[in-house]
Amino acid sequence: MTRTPKETQAYADKQLDAFFDSVTPELKAHVVSLPRRITQISARPVIRLKEVLNTADQIFEHAGKFAACARGCGHCCHVSVPITQFEARYMGDNLGITPVELKQTIKHELTEYGSHTPCPFLKQGECSIYEFRPLTCRMHMNFDVDNYWCLHENWQKPEAEIPRPTIQPLIDAYHSVISNVAPIMGDIRDFFPHGKEDLT
Ligand code: SF4
Ligand code: SF4
Repeated sequence: MTRTPKETQAYADKQLDAFFDSVTPELKAHVVSLPRRITQISARPVIRLKEVLNTADQIFEHAGKFAACARGCGHCCHVSVPITQFEARYMGDNLGITPVELKQTIKHELTEYGSHTPCPFLKQGECSIYEFRPLTCRMHMNFDVDNYWCLHENWQKPEAEIPRPTIQPLIDAYHSVISNVAPIMGDIRDFFPHGKEDLT
């Protein structure tokens, strides 16, 4: 359905409000306290990263019914998927794949990606590494009425706006975990150019 950015925003604002209202005070407090808690956990960085990912799952579990996202709708799996070297190692350890070790951060132009560049882990329209997908994928949801602005032919239009919730404590906690270990960033395709074909 064709929508103007203004219509999209008005609808999404209501959905975002409904989503945040649906979250229990306990869970809200749990999320808000995450950046502080994560600095106090005296555990290996991988355990602390898992806490961030688990908390993201807890809060976004509530989001599905307010979003346009549906199983098999994988347009967002064709755009840039920025991850850090540390998260790539975490994914690789769990998947049995050795990720590429980048020497430095690789920056990509948004226009580099599109319908011709599926994430190497997208299989038959679904994420084949769902349990170990990166934080950015866990947080990527479209709160519009449908996926119109995510479609390949629309998302690069100057007026395109995909309304997504920003849960700042998750982002802050993530950066707190990785800042001292391996903050180098790249796209998921830089770290895993062949996806599961590189199973070690
Ligand atoms: S973010 Fe967009 S492309 Fe991805 S599942 Fe949601 S609606 Fe579909
Ligand atoms: S890791 Fe999974 S969810 Fe993330 S872009 Fe790749 S296929 Fe999509």
